[in-house]
Amino acid sequence: MTIRLNLCFSSYHSSLKTLSVDGHFTFDDLHHAAKDFGNRFQLLPLAVLHPRSVSDIANTIKHIWQLGPHSQLTVAARGHGHSLQGQAQAHQGVVINMESLQGPKMQIHAGKYPYIDVSGGELWINILHESVKYGLAPKSWTDYLHLTVGGTLSNAGISGQAFRHGPQISNVYQLEVVTGKGEVVNCSEKQNGDLFHGVLGGLGQFGIITRAQISLEPAPDKVKWIRVLYSDFATFASDQEHLISAEITFDYIEGFVIINRTGLLNNWRSSFNPQDPVQASQFESDGRTLFCLELAKYFNTDKTDVMNEEVKLLLSQLRYIPSTLFLSEVPYVEFLDRVHVSEVKLRSKGLWEVPHPWLNLLVPKSKIHNFAEEVFGNILTDTSNGPILIYPVNKSKWDNRTSAVIPEEDIFYLVAFLSSAVPSSTGTDGLEHILTQNRRILEFCGTAHLGVKQYLPHYTKHEDWQAHFGPQWEIFVRRKSTYDPLAILAPGQRIFQKAI
Ligand code: FAD
Repeated sequence: MTIRLNLCFSSYHSSLKTLSVDGHFTFDDLHHAAKDFGNRFQLLPLAVLHPRSVSDIANTIKHIWQLGPHSQLTVAARGHGHSLQGQAQAHQGVVINMESLQGPKMQIHAGKYPYIDVSGGELWINILHESVKYGLAPKSWTDYLHLTVGGTLSNAGISGQAFRHGPQISNVYQLEVVTGKGEVVNCSEKQNGDLFHGVLGGLGQFGIITRAQISLEPAPDKVKWIRVLYSDFATFASDQEHLISAEITFDYIEGFVIINRTGLLNNWRSSFNPQDPVQASQFESDGRTLFCLELAKYFNTDKTDVMNEEVKLLLSQLRYIPSTLFLSEVPYVEFLDRVHVSEVKLRSKGLWEVPHPWLNLLVPKSKIHNFAEEVFGNILTDTSNGPILIYPVNKSKWDNRTSAVIPEEDIFYLVAFLSSAVPSSTGTDGLEHILTQNRRILEFCGTAHLGVKQYLPHYTKHEDWQAHFGPQWEIFVRRKSTYDPLAILAPGQRIFQKAI
């Protein structure tokens, strides 16, 4: 059996070599394509394609499609490889290095509904730098911008702007997609709408995004960046919910949990310069659990006074601990790229390339108190091994025709446990301990029937995927059989298996 498989792989190898592409394939030294941010899964591919054109991608997939159902070859688009559990890997398959895809340069289209036309392998940070040259910027972001368009649109793309603009998948006008049959298809709400909606949040299952048109808005010069603390979860959550529902409100609303805060790992995301650093340092949490509301108001420098008045009014409606108000003003680009500062720091200390057993959950509003009581009161009482984000978003800003899976209620919370593990530690900062905590959280959500959905989902069993999608499962399966019937694409998600 092993000999037969080896023979197969050597013949795939030769057949890929015969393909004429504008870019090139590599067959050696493929370890980079078998790594991701999660640092826990390593599956070596057979080859990596560095495409220069969309036809490189289409011809490669068409070739594999034509080999038929009995070839084992699969294809994974790799964006920036910031997946957590091997989602952009392809065991003995072909990994497509999307960042090398060269299409037409990024192009801004002005007008009533401005947008930018970009490659699916483009990093969001580059899109930001390009669009602000024209006084414009995308409306909806992720907290960290060194991720690709194709990678975040395959999930959702959620950050503090999502309550108002929806996730990134709600801010796309058009896509160019290469399906699992190697066809290049343009799609939008009006044209090939089923593929368009399927691909958005589709975990890479229906096609490879090679271009996207992303909706833009005027970019501000600066951002008023605010943090305030609460000792009581109910008040914190009620203020967050008030702010995301108000007509006049902030431009960005997030929050995080501070559990017995000490140490760099807990601080990696909080590169914050409060105006009064002495006051800020008083709020080590001293073994207590605190809740930090993080807000931002965009403004242009000629309207600073107006902005300050608005912020004052908005803050007067909130019930935070009055002495904990930290205010700062930073350039817009610096605000959006804030997590990168921490990345640079952690990299310099060798703390970036460690295992990241992250757990991201979407929790319905009606169950968030129950969730917080058990998780912050019982499961994570002593410490956390990284930031824990918690903030609500409005379901009305999500399009239920996309593949993204979200809870049933009008408001739901993103709760993100962004843990880093200390390699080879067997203590509370080790991988096993953190995975056990994650399991306890998931088990609690299950037994208490909270209606929680995983964001950036990871399951290994068919029935768990089916339960995750719930009523959307049938549509998901139907789309798979329409656009990627041989299950060639994104095998690292482990939803469908190529028939062999
Ligand atoms: P990859 O890891 O390379 O790929 C992810 C999946 O998408 C794979 O299945 C891959 O095959 C598929 N894929 C990649 N490119 C394409 C394409 N062009 N077409 C079709 N499928 C494709 N997410 C949020 O929503 N909000 C956040 O604030 C946020 N912050 C993050 C911060 C950090 C430090 C990290 C590591 C991740 C964060 N994420 C966040 C999660 C992130 O959005 C996802 O992990 C995303 O998939 C990473 O993008 P990538 O380009 O690295 O994708």
